[in-house]
Amino acid sequence: MPKEVKLAKYAGFCYGVKRAVETVKKIKAENPDKNISVLGELIHNTHVINELEKLGIKTLTEIPEHGDGICVIRSHGESPEVFEKIKQAGFEPIDLTCPDVKKVQQKAIELAKDGYFVVIVGKSEHPEVIAIKANAQLYTDKVVVAASIDQLEPYKAEIKSHRKVGVVVQTTQRITTLNSIVEYLTSISKELHIANTICASTAMRQTEAKELAQDSDLVIVVGSKKSANTTHLAEILKDITNTIHIENEDELESYSDLIKSSQKISVTAGASTPQDIIENVLNKLRKEQ
Ligand code: SF4
Repeated sequence: MPKEVKLAKYAGFCYGVKRAVETVKKIKAENPDKNISVLGELIHNTHVINELEKLGIKTLTEIPEHGDGICVIRSHGESPEVFEKIKQAGFEPIDLTCPDVKKVQQKAIELAKDGYFVVIVGKSEHPEVIAIKANAQLYTDKVVVAASIDQLEPYKAEIKSHRKVGVVVQTTQRITTLNSIVEYLTSISKELHIANTICASTAMRQTEAKELAQDSDLVIVVGSKKSANTTHLAEILKDITNTIHIENEDELESYSDLIKSSQKISVTAGASTPQDIIENVLNKLRKEQ
């Protein structure tokens, strides 16, 4: 039987990433003589970072004492303190925080202002989570970050004693993680406000990939291993069918036996995976048929 290779409709750049990459290139084109830098990797993809570097767009790993030109805030967002430091260093900040991430920050601020104990569902080291937390902390010190019930346990007594608990979730989290935390909080809190802030792009990508996985012998998830949304996607699909997570077509070789024995293969990709990398994976797979 011939092998069938399908590509997911929602594979690759989401609108927030697309907007960030296109805007930063436009800023450089309109300001050829200015220093243009991005604080942190604009997206989790070495290929794109190298391309930006070639255009003269630098990636800063930290804020230097003195800087000049434009410093771009990537789609993950930053804390107000970081914005201030960028200005103090001498940069002009340009904010490319994804509008969906801004909504989470605003919701966390709203909950904090309204006296809620704020629970942020996500990984504490994720840049988006760090910025959401910092924004909420402008209005309350009752903020915790948790990616599992175990991480909430140490705060059980404090949460129980607080009248109102508000939940926001990092935009690319798994819905099952949010659900399990909400279930736990329901059992220990009197008033619970849940804002499901998983972004529409992530939700659509995960739903479509799950449907594809049900009808596939193998799903190949393409994207950086540093990318949270790509990793979550692979984790979800592993529960449904054989799933491999690769960064580019070169890694296909390590899975040649599995690929050869699979008749129906689906390919999906994270929000920070460029189209040409997806195409290279598809071309290699189709050549091997
Ligand atoms: S994954 Fe969602 S929140 Fe993150 S940049 Fe893309 S659209 Fe925005």
